[in-house]
Amino acid sequence: MSRKNIAAGNWKMNKNYEEGLELARGLAAKSVGSNALMILATPFIHLKAVGDIIKDASHIHLAAQNCHQNASGAYTGETSLDMLKSVGVSHVILGHSERREYFHESNELLAEKVNAVLEAGLTPIFCCGERLDIREADTHVAYVANQIKESLFHLSEADFGKIIIAYEPIWAIGTGVTASPKQAQDMHREIRQMIAGKYNAATADNCSILYGGSVKPANAVELFGQPDVDGGLVGGASLKADDFCAIYEAF
Ligand code: PEP
Repeated sequence: MSRKNIAAGNWKMNKNYEEGLELARGLAAKSVGSNALMILATPFIHLKAVGDIIKDASHIHLAAQNCHQNASGAYTGETSLDMLKSVGVSHVILGHSERREYFHESNELLAEKVNAVLEAGLTPIFCCGERLDIREADTHVAYVANQIKESLFHLSEADFGKIIIAYEPIWAIGTGVTASPKQAQDMHREIRQMIAGKYNAATADNCSILYGGSVKPANAVELFGQPDVDGGLVGGASLKADDFCAIYEAF
């Protein structure tokens, strides 16, 4: 997969069914197709209907916010990749910091989920990022490197080429505090160097690396203008069609 500009919206556990469909209709109507991709990570129960709404908007893709690593079976409350595929999901967010913190998802479990998503032929959006105390201790680069190494660096070069990475410093998620464009660029460059060191420069150059953490219309242009920032994974500002369209148009 070649490097792309991407605005991905993570709705998290927001919007009831009708509200979600209204948001999807607004996005399908307002956002104009361009070379950038728009990805909507809706709650599970919205996926099928949102997929129907966006089916003629070729720039909009459907994502799940999580999946189970096993194909099927007695896993009450979980959702399989086969189910996600059957309703038109193309991308799966993995390792969001909220899943790591509240659902105890480890780097090892995420490696299994990455494998399962790739085997299913879908695209993982792999999240990484450090807590504030790690940033303040100036160990954030090593921390993120370890997340990437333990969950992704077992992949072949060909499989790694199918991954999208989202760098999301936890101190910037949902806090209104955005990483400065320089902080985002510095970490994205580090991530690209890690990939070049493990694989090669072409693989690093082809990888789409998104920034996440309080992206909004007012800061998207500057963030997305950084040479190693290929777009954003957006929470709060993806819940309003006008705001998310403005972010999508910031490239
Ligand atoms: C996120 O949930 O991935 C996120 C970055 O949230 P927010 O944009 O609200 O900080």
